[in-house]
Amino acid sequence: MQGQETAAVVGAGFSGLSTARFLASKGCPTSLLEEHGRVGFPKHCTGIVSQDTLEAIGEPAIRCYLHRYDAIVVEGSRGNSFTVEKRGIAHILDRVCLEEELLREAHTQGADYRPHTRVESVDDRGDRVRLGYRGKMGQGLQEYSYVVLATGSRSPAIHPLLAQKRPPTIPGVNHVVQGEHGQDPHTIRVIFDHSLAPGFFAWLVPLSPDTMIAGLASSTPGGLRRGLRRLLEEKLPPGISLMEAYGGPVNRGPPLSILAAKRVLLTGDAGVLVKPVTGGGLYPVAHITNPKGEEKGEGCAGAFALLRKRTLRMAARLRLHYRVARLLHEPRNQGLIDRAIEEAAKARLGEVIGQRMGFDDHHLLARTVMARPLLALKLAIIAGPRALSLLVG
Ligand SMILES: Cc1cc2nc3c(=O)[nH]c(=O)nc-3n(C[C@H](O)[C@H](O)[C@H](O)COP(=O)(O)OP(=O)(O)OC[C@H]3O[C@@H](n4cnc5c(N)ncnc54)[C@H](O)[C@@H]3O)c2cc1C
Repeated sequence: MQGQETAAVVGAGFSGLSTARFLASKGCPTSLLEEHGRVGFPKHCTGIVSQDTLEAIGEPAIRCYLHRYDAIVVEGSRGNSFTVEKRGIAHILDRVCLEEELLREAHTQGADYRPHTRVESVDDRGDRVRLGYRGKMGQGLQEYSYVVLATGSRSPAIHPLLAQKRPPTIPGVNHVVQGEHGQDPHTIRVIFDHSLAPGFFAWLVPLSPDTMIAGLASSTPGGLRRGLRRLLEEKLPPGISLMEAYGGPVNRGPPLSILAAKRVLLTGDAGVLVKPVTGGGLYPVAHITNPKGEEKGEGCAGAFALLRKRTLRMAARLRLHYRVARLLHEPRNQGLIDRAIEEAAKARLGEVIGQRMGFDDHHLLARTVMARPLLALKLAIIAGPRALSLLVG
C-alpha cells in the first residue's frame, strides 16, 4: 500500500458507517475500526427522521422502515398545544437494522470492517496519520492518508480535536410500551414541560394503535425516573405495560468549534453534529455523507475534502439551530414557551410551519414566525429582549 492513499474511520455507529460507505463509494480504500463486536448495540436512539433524511440515507433506510407520521403536536406545560400537519412529516426507522444495512453497503462498496479494534492514539504530525490500536489479535500501529473520528459522545481524547471542551450531554431514555394508548398512530406528541423533562422535552411516538415509544431527557439528577413515571401516569391511559427500555446521552449542541485538521475530521456525536433542539444526529451525518450530492469528490483526497466542506457547512447551520434550542431548553423560559405555544395556536402557526419548513429546519423557525408580523410582535412583547435571540436567527 506504499504510496496509495487510504482512509480510516474510527467508530461504527451510524456516523462511522455512513462515512465509511461514502469514502469507499468514492473509490477510497477505507478501513472501519470499531471497538465492539456488533453494530447497532447498545441500542439508544428512537430513529425518527424527516423525508429528506430518509432519502439521503437511501436504500438502508427503506429496508429498515417502520412507520410514517403525518402530524406533530407541540404541547406546553398547561395542556396548551399547536399541531404541525404534513403527510410524511417524519418517519421512524429500526435503528439496529439500519446500522446492519449500512455495514452491509459499506462492505459492498469495499470498506474493510475491523470489529473488536479499539483505537488508542491518533498522531497526525507529518503527511500521514498513524493510528495506534489494540484488538483481539494484539496491538499495532497503522498509517492512513486521512482519518475520520466517529467515536460518539463518550469519545476518549485520542486526538487534540477530541480534547476540546465539550458541551455537556444529558441522559435520555426510551420506554417501548404496550396497551391501547388512544393516540392517533400517525401523530407524534412532543411536550415542552420543564417540570416533566427539565432542560429538554418528552415525546410520545406511536408505532401502532397499541405500541408506543414514550421517552424524555432530563438535565437534573433523578429527573429521568420521576419524569418517566409522570409521563406514563399523566399522559397515557391506565393499563399500559413496559416492554423494553433503552437510552443514552443526548447532545443539545452546539457543534465543537474546531471540527477539522489537515487530515483528520470529526463527525457525528464526536463533533456534537446534532440538531440541538431535538438531539437528532441522523440528519446532519446523512446529509454530509449523501452519496447523491452534486459536488464531485473522487478518490481519498477528493472525498475527504468534500466531507470536510459539507461538515463545516452543516456545523454553521446547526449553530443557528442552537439559538432556538437554548431558548426552548432553559427551564426559566417555561412561561414564555407556554405563551408562545398559545399564540402559535391562535395564529395557526402549525399550518405555516407545515408548508414552509421541513422537520430538520429549526433555523428557519424565526423566519417563519417573522412571516406572521402580528405573531412576531406578540412574541417579542411577551419575551422582551430575550426573544431577539430567537427572532434574529
Ligand atoms: C434516547 C435517544 C433518542 C434519540 N433519538 C434520535 C432520533 O429519533 N433521531 C435522530 O436523528 N437521532 C436521535 N438520537 C441521536 C442519535 O442516536 C445519535 O446522534 C447517533 O446515534 C450518533 O451516532 P454516532 O455514530 O455519531 O455515535 P455512536 O452511535 O455513539 O457510535 C460511536 C461508535 O464509536 C465506537 N468507538 C468509540 N471510541 C472508539 C475507539 N477509540 N476505537 C474504536 N471504536 C470506538 C463506539 O463503540 C460506537 O460504536 C437519539 C439519542 C438518544 C440517546
